[in-house]
Amino acid sequence: MQNNRNVRYVSGALADYLEFPALERYPELGASFAVRGTKGYHYEPISSEANYSGISAELGIHESSLTMPVQEHTANVAECIDGVKKYESTDGLVTNMRGVVLCTKVADCISLLLYDPINHAIGNIHSGWRGTLQKISDNGVRKMVELYGTDPAKLICVICPSIRQDHFEVDEDVYVLFKEAYPDLIDEVTRKSGDKYYIDSVRCNTWLLEQLGVKVENIIDSELCTVCYSSLINSYRGNIDGEKQYRNLAMIWLRDNNKEVK
Ligand SMILES: [Zn+2]
Repeated sequence: MQNNRNVRYVSGALADYLEFPALERYPELGASFAVRGTKGYHYEPISSEANYSGISAELGIHESSLTMPVQEHTANVAECIDGVKKYESTDGLVTNMRGVVLCTKVADCISLLLYDPINHAIGNIHSGWRGTLQKISDNGVRKMVELYGTDPAKLICVICPSIRQDHFEVDEDVYVLFKEAYPDLIDEVTRKSGDKYYIDSVRCNTWLLEQLGVKVENIIDSELCTVCYSSLINSYRGNIDGEKQYRNLAMIWLRDNNKEVK
């Protein structure tokens, strides 16, 4: 896979993942997008212990620090707090705790990694097309504003690999839902071909961020389509695993040099 200005592909001994060079100027921050890679890794279900231990060891973090919400394509964002590992019916987590790795599992859906370098807080938001319709990105940023005093103008956001417009083909029923949710944006994000519609769901999410005051230059888009790269990145529509549906693992954390997460 070709690296681009926002993404570097790392093929490690234990797992393959993407890292984001633009974040390296923040030493307290860790962020990674673990993919299937050449070794066929996947991150679902949670009982696939071996997979999580591989990426954890590769990144130098403890598997026990991984925190994964029970994703259900909701718009619910919860604060990750000390001692609580289970977040039911939750599709986004935020925290200012160090040493905990916020995770979301995706294959075509968008993971947005959020970082407030001023107030030292992070978020990880799962925004698939249902989450995009419910504007969970908006909820995620608002939650950080409310809990940590985040200034959206200072917020850094990474858009992980996801299905992109050329492959996100929908019928009129889904198009109509987008039109209802984004009346001012619908023409910009839609291309029609025959009776099919192609929607730029990434743009819907970045538009939401911009409406809240996030700066365009602080949005770091991986610009990678999961379907186009399904041999290396787990994809739902581009699935090459038959009946099995595998996920990638988006991760963000604040390092704690006194604890296990280095
Ligand atoms: Zn594609």
